[in-house]
Amino acid sequence: MIYFDNSATTMVDERVLETYNKVCKNYPGNSNSLHKLGIKSKELEDYATECIAKYLGVKKNEILYTSGATESNNTVLKGVAFRYKTRGNHIITSYLEHSSVIETCKYLEKNGFIIDYVNINEDGTVDLEHLKSLITDKTILVSIALVDSELGIRQDIGGISRIVRNYPKCFLHVDITQGLGKTDISFDNIDFASASMHKIFGMKGIGLLIKKENIEIDNLIHGGKSTTSYRSGTPALPLIVSSMKAIELVIPNIKKNYEYVEKLNKRIISALEKYDNVHINSTDKSIPYIINFSIKGIKPETFIHALDEEDIYISTKSACSSSDISNAVYSLYHDLDIAKHSLRISLSYKNTIEEVEEFIKVFDKVYNKLMFKN
Ligand code: PMP
Repeated sequence: MIYFDNSATTMVDERVLETYNKVCKNYPGNSNSLHKLGIKSKELEDYATECIAKYLGVKKNEILYTSGATESNNTVLKGVAFRYKTRGNHIITSYLEHSSVIETCKYLEKNGFIIDYVNINEDGTVDLEHLKSLITDKTILVSIALVDSELGIRQDIGGISRIVRNYPKCFLHVDITQGLGKTDISFDNIDFASASMHKIFGMKGIGLLIKKENIEIDNLIHGGKSTTSYRSGTPALPLIVSSMKAIELVIPNIKKNYEYVEKLNKRIISALEKYDNVHINSTDKSIPYIINFSIKGIKPETFIHALDEEDIYISTKSACSSSDISNAVYSLYHDLDIAKHSLRISLSYKNTIEEVEEFIKVFDKVYNKLMFKN
């Protein structure tokens, strides 16, 4: 099997799974309980949260656990919108965002909020001049992904935050789901960040929401106080501790892994570039983990299924997108043919050069078979 769909999800790391199992067995108590078992669980929860905070460079009380980045994104967008609607009703985002941001924005639009989508430059980065022209005293939130899931463009969050910081009543939310563990992140000038642990070889079903201390938002989920009053529910201790493990395994190796994946990326791109009908959609601002390309003349689903037959897994657009056309690719190239035919290879540091060479061979076979079948 060759698994090149790591941006959709990664395969859980054995060490993460082992941690999860151990905590399930040895820490049965609810960390909110006052008895001995509860206290033991609470101590472990506090330890894991402190470690995660240290790795990320944020404060312990700035970490909220959610079920995943979808919930984190919903919590920020709705939580800010409903809390600060008397300040303003304007939100700025981009077409590169994940559906959990775009669809939440559409929901807010139905509820009286005005959503603007900032233009994207030719290299995929946010057009900062356009952002400056959109932002006003009524803007309460700017939400931009550090790295988007389709094209893998790494945004200039520093440049974006300098614009947002001129508007003290406006918050900046950064979806770091595709960037965490792959590229360095500074939380200095951002107010909220969202992530999912299954993108970094962690367990499915847990995400992080970094919320800077002292910022109040409305709750998405109501109930008891739990770890934080912003997200009720019994703390998922085995998931929390396994997340600490997942983070511990990737964060110290960001540079080394990035350089390694860059080599795999270059080899794949140099092979794909040779085909007349292949258009490489990723730009020089894309991180090497994501290669987006279109094959004009072959339906993406047909190509994916042909690769399936060979036990090779890549993806059409983002796994969570429902429409035929990639809005992200369209927003960059303004070409329907390219936007309709986009495919995504997403690599991890666990992929090998042998897998890459095998993929290139199989790609050639499948491409020729489908392109010249008549
Ligand atoms: N944001 C981005 C950028 C993503 O890539 C994803 C997952 N594809 C999400 C949010 C949502 O994550 P989850 O499905 O784990 O909730």
